[in-house]
Amino acid sequence: MIKDYICYLGYEWGVDCSNIPIRISKRMTNTWGHYTFNARTFKPLEFVFSHFLLDGSYTDEEIKSVLKHEFCHYYVNTLHKKDCKHNHEFQKACKFLNIDGSRYSKLKISENLKNYISSRNKYKVTCNKCGITFFQKRLPNHCTLENYNKNYRCASCKGTLEIKPIK
Ligand SMILES: [Zn+2]
Ligand SMILES: [Zn+2]
Repeated sequence: MIKDYICYLGYEWGVDCSNIPIRISKRMTNTWGHYTFNARTFKPLEFVFSHFLLDGSYTDEEIKSVLKHEFCHYYVNTLHKKDCKHNHEFQKACKFLNIDGSRYSKLKISENLKNYISSRNKYKVTCNKCGITFFQKRLPNHCTLENYNKNYRCASCKGTLEIKPIK
């Protein structure tokens, strides 16, 4: 289904996606999908999707929104021969496909994924500024729950962090 849909999007936009490898990752829990490309030529390397996106917890529409997001990365990076990230060109492509172009997915974390994450992590960290969430197996050395947010800031926006044990 994934391959077919990506190829269909490509067909609609006049690009051939049939040779781009698609990989399903069993361990990908921090994001639903990822597009990688050669940093010099901007030729596609692969699409990777989380197994948790495809475990029956999400509707076809939800899955398709993730596929569209990654397709847009592929399309604009290849077209403009640069890493467009979530820039204006990327947003335009997303708008065309009727998806929200934000960096963070609005998909709710399924019970399956929640269980998987809590079986492998002890702490959940949320950025107070940009809202990114990630998980930690343990606290860094010499760090306590109390002083964690004094010592660490969000890697992407430098906002303050809030750490909570996962029950
Ligand atoms: Zn993205
Ligand atoms: Zn942040």
